[in-house]
Amino acid sequence: MIRLALPNKGRLAEGARELLERAGLEFDVRGERALQAVLGDDFLALFVNARDIPEFVADGAADLGITGRDLVAEADRSLAELLDLGFGRCRLVVAARDDSSIRSLDDLPPGARVATTFTRLAADFFVRERRSVTIVPVSGAAEIAPHLGVADVIVDLVSTGSTLKVNGLLEIARIMDSTALLVARPVLLEDEATQRRIAELTAALESVIRAHDQRYLMANVPRAALPAVKRIIPGISGPTIIDIMDGGTFVAAHAVVDRRNLYRVIAELKAVGAAGILVTPIERLMP
Ligand code: AMP
Repeated sequence: MIRLALPNKGRLAEGARELLERAGLEFDVRGERALQAVLGDDFLALFVNARDIPEFVADGAADLGITGRDLVAEADRSLAELLDLGFGRCRLVVAARDDSSIRSLDDLPPGARVATTFTRLAADFFVRERRSVTIVPVSGAAEIAPHLGVADVIVDLVSTGSTLKVNGLLEIARIMDSTALLVARPVLLEDEATQRRIAELTAALESVIRAHDQRYLMANVPRAALPAVKRIIPGISGPTIIDIMDGGTFVAAHAVVDRRNLYRVIAELKAVGAAGILVTPIERLMP
């Protein structure tokens, strides 16, 4: 069994579970404490703290892991990045109290105190920016530190920005963007049989991710409008055109359409006389 370390709680845990299930891997939880689960035929899922995953994979306690790009960068271990999974999107930022005079990095006093759980990434960032700061390590809830007077700014993850806002903080610089990654121990990839099973997993996940923003559109269109229909829904390799029994002058046109273009596409199809328009989600997409 290939051991896959997964986050045991939070946004990354939910995202990872959803993605794996959509890719057709079923979780079969064994034991009461649910620390691990059999996943599909080939994998054993180990539920651990997302922050520990880079270390566990690098040290060989797990073979693969799903965790944030921010945590992989913070751990600074040698890991192979197999796939960007697209969920868990957030950014690592520097933030100051919104009632302070700090509005940009230029406003930081020399030796400014930076509270963070990302001590390595924060220290590297301020060295790159040629600012002398003092890193104040905290183990969580950094956003309270400026209000307690133990730090001038914080370095923390932001997704919607509502946590910063309710804590009276203002983003003043961006350090990096992050999403969830599938990572592997580099030596593991030298074994051919393992390599093949990991390639299958990666391909399955990739097909689900690719399908996420795509929809399958079906419409009955006048045969005479086919040149326009081809322009409106080019699809992956041209729309599929199918005869309709007793369809008269109408044929059916099917194509994959980007979700974000649906609104425009439907309006344009209607304008050329399309009827019976149907849109469905796609589970997987393998070009
Ligand atoms: P938000 O209020 O949406 O900006 O979320 C901010 C809080 O959620 C911070 O405490 C972050 O540590 C945490 N957070 C946001 N995005 C992620 C993520 N992708 N992975 C882990 N924690 C996150």
